[in-house]
Amino acid sequence: MRPIQMVDTKSQYLKIKTEVDAAIQEVLDSAGYINGKPVQEFTVHLNTYQNCKNTIPCANGTDALQIAMMALDLQPGDEVITPSFTYIATTEVVALLKLKPVFVEVDPKTFCIDPQSIRKAITPRTKAIVPVHLYGHAAPMEEIMKIAAEFGLYVIEDNAQAIGCDYTFSDGTKKKTGTIGTIGTTSFYPSKNLGAYGDGGAIFTNDDTLAVKIKMIANHGQQKRYYHEMVGCNSRLDSIQAAVLNIKLRELDHYNAARQKVAETYNRAFATNEKIITPFVAPYSNHVYHQYTLVLNGSNRDGLNAYLSEHNIPSMIYYPVPGHRQKMFASFGLPEYDLKVTDWLTERVISLPVHTEMDEEQLTYITGHVLNYIK
Ligand SMILES: *Cc1c(COP(=O)(O)O)cnc(C)c1O
Repeated sequence: MRPIQMVDTKSQYLKIKTEVDAAIQEVLDSAGYINGKPVQEFTVHLNTYQNCKNTIPCANGTDALQIAMMALDLQPGDEVITPSFTYIATTEVVALLKLKPVFVEVDPKTFCIDPQSIRKAITPRTKAIVPVHLYGHAAPMEEIMKIAAEFGLYVIEDNAQAIGCDYTFSDGTKKKTGTIGTIGTTSFYPSKNLGAYGDGGAIFTNDDTLAVKIKMIANHGQQKRYYHEMVGCNSRLDSIQAAVLNIKLRELDHYNAARQKVAETYNRAFATNEKIITPFVAPYSNHVYHQYTLVLNGSNRDGLNAYLSEHNIPSMIYYPVPGHRQKMFASFGLPEYDLKVTDWLTERVISLPVHTEMDEEQLTYITGHVLNYIK
């Protein structure tokens, strides 16, 4: 059996090696390392894929979040509502900009931000909501947008884990996650569903005025070279990464389908085990399985983690410490949070390998060992 990995970017690369190598060589030959033709092309292709009005590439998914918040002119002390149950980048950026993170609960089934919890957290200082489409499943955007409209709040969708995911509104219309809120962001970190061979990120918005500002902020606050109208930063997607992403974007739907196939195999294997809760898919979302995450109810999660590891099966806890318990925020004078769902999930979630290069033999080996441990 081929060794099992959490992600296998190498095997995936080998299938597109000829094309990728040629595209990288072309960048080297052109010497257009920064803002070269592949960056322009990828931006157009991604914008078309997302069916969005504006796509702005940048250096990584964390920068994308930071630039989004800078573009909205949020002021120190403004409150930003985010789930505690997420990757740290989302809330770190809030703190970095001296905004106040306000942690709320997630839905125990979808792992995404809970609209009821958002409502309870709104104060006169609230300026924005940052839903995260965690593990590749959409947050309940229709309800979130309704709350945002009611209270005049911005919505920044952290779409780093869900590129390719479709959200279906109650009237049947569909939109790509990342294009529904005021601004959406994503990451091309190598292990993401659309992964580069280095860092990368992008920002989406249907607001043309905001798009101009976002572009400026990502480029030292300038539109005209050396005329800096506002404080910005330096955040670029480089040409080599864009050349790689251009090729991989064409495969994205196949990649996500391959992840869904892995998830279906896992779901079937675990369906009748009452101690294993398999991922829920809400009627308004499909699932692109950036992670395949189980909730173990009545079984020893850390024990399973260790048992799998002994049998050369990697598994991960995403994430072992929720935002509201991170030391990072100790000096922020945050209130004593009581986030029961978040704490409950933190103790019970475990993510199994899911990627585009898994075979039946590996899946049988993994499901066999999981079921061997959880009887
Ligand atoms: C990966 C990730 C980010 C950050 O992306 P980078 O490109 O690593 O900066 C932000 N939010 C979430 C939810 C992520 O998974």
